[in-house]
Amino acid sequence: MSTEKFDAIVVGAGPAGAAAAITMAQAGLSVVLLERGEYPGAKNVMGGVMYGRMVADVVPEFWKLDAPLERVVVEERVWITTEEGVVSLGYRNPRQAYHPDGCPNAFTVLRARWDRWFAARAEEAGAILVPQTVAEDVIWQDDRIVGVRTGREEGDLYADVVVIADGVNSFLAQRARLRDHPVAPHHLALAVKEVIGLPPEIIESRFNLEPGQGVTIELYGAVTDGMSGYGFLYTNRDSLSVGVGVLVSHLMRTRRTPYELLERLKQHPAVRPLLTGGEVLEYAAHAIPEGGYEAMPRLFGNGVLIAGDAAMMVNGLHREGSNLAMAAGRLAGETVIEAKRRGDFSARTLALYEAKLRESFVLQDLVKYRHLPELADRRPDLFRIYPHLVHDAVHEMLTVDGLPKRAKQRRIWQEITRRRRPLQLLRDLYEIWRAVR
Ligand SMILES: Cc1cc2nc3c(=O)[nH]c(=O)nc-3n(C[C@H](O)[C@H](O)[C@H](O)COP(=O)(O)OP(=O)(O)OC[C@H]3O[C@@H](n4cnc5c(N)ncnc54)[C@H](O)[C@@H]3O)c2cc1C
Repeated sequence: MSTEKFDAIVVGAGPAGAAAAITMAQAGLSVVLLERGEYPGAKNVMGGVMYGRMVADVVPEFWKLDAPLERVVVEERVWITTEEGVVSLGYRNPRQAYHPDGCPNAFTVLRARWDRWFAARAEEAGAILVPQTVAEDVIWQDDRIVGVRTGREEGDLYADVVVIADGVNSFLAQRARLRDHPVAPHHLALAVKEVIGLPPEIIESRFNLEPGQGVTIELYGAVTDGMSGYGFLYTNRDSLSVGVGVLVSHLMRTRRTPYELLERLKQHPAVRPLLTGGEVLEYAAHAIPEGGYEAMPRLFGNGVLIAGDAAMMVNGLHREGSNLAMAAGRLAGETVIEAKRRGDFSARTLALYEAKLRESFVLQDLVKYRHLPELADRRPDLFRIYPHLVHDAVHEMLTVDGLPKRAKQRRIWQEITRRRRPLQLLRDLYEIWRAVR
């Protein structure tokens, strides 16, 4: 490997790392993008809904290029499940699935294809992509990071700044002294996912879609069997991505396996017919960092920045992670560009990165939901109690049995207060409000 010194080394060619590399390479910086996989995306797992605005911020008008979009999301459904039933909420408007400039708001992807394409944009801009290369450690000189040690022969690489974007199990975050301890089990979700092949026409008729259009379904309640988390079902061009993720701390407590949960989800009476006749093409498991703002590492140091999952940048409530990763990667890139202009790569200048994140939706959203991870860990019962209450209330209102509606409302209230005393109800509502306000 080269002994030349680069402006920046980016570790990890996922959404965060590729966005950082594209941004810096476009500005003429010399950038190396290290990826441990055989190619970018080879081992990466996501639901996966990508968000167009954050892609367009680094690759303008990407939708006019050959980007591997599966389907543009025109409808989003939330299903509150009991063992047999579903209360469904949804939003559909195909015309509003695009921003005014034609950029798709959200679209599904398969990461093996998407990451390869996205990292190729970094190469096109001038970055050097080095796949099949693990960054094993950072190199310290006095009190600053000056490079990374790779697993290759003569594998030390030097740069003014290292951008750590190595994902959820970021080992480098600790080596770079940005995090003092490993991520705790209650700050991680474990998700399992299958990709199930189906002909496009069948997907379109089952989900009421035109060619190219897609649907997302998030499932709460019984599908997670009393644990905090949710299931998902997304349409790709000729496959469905179906999966479920719950907190690792809850899996440890209940001793359930994620595989059991996925089978339970696939057998749910509302899900099974959507999968009928499909062939399992892929099975994958991956962790999601769900600790939120309070569990984030330090974001910068002398000669180092950290972005994406490695920095706990996931907004679980809105199933957003890839967009936070891309935005943070871009802002890390812009910070390095400014540091180069000033000729100062110390923490004093790189602190600009955190300031940029605070001005953006990335930290503003994570701060807004800072109490949610603690609530999700402490109160998995909310995921069990309320779906049943909602389901029973809707069932009562929709059952036409000659009872006047006012009497039905009274019956619903009596049933709710039988299962949850008014004070408990108030406390639950207050806790939920405080976590999401
Ligand atoms: C099942 C599941 C469903 C999800 N669904 C969604 C969704 O629908 N929408 C959404 O926005 N987000 C979703 N997410 C979250 C999203 O996938 C992440 O937030 C996003 O991928 C973070 O990007 P990243 O670049 O930070 O990390 P990653 O995508 O994990 O990329 C890290 C990269 O670094 C490489 N790497 C790791 N260590 C090293 C090393 N030492 N040396 C070299 N390379 C290394 C890895 O191979 C990888 O390519 C989901 C996650 C999961 C697991």
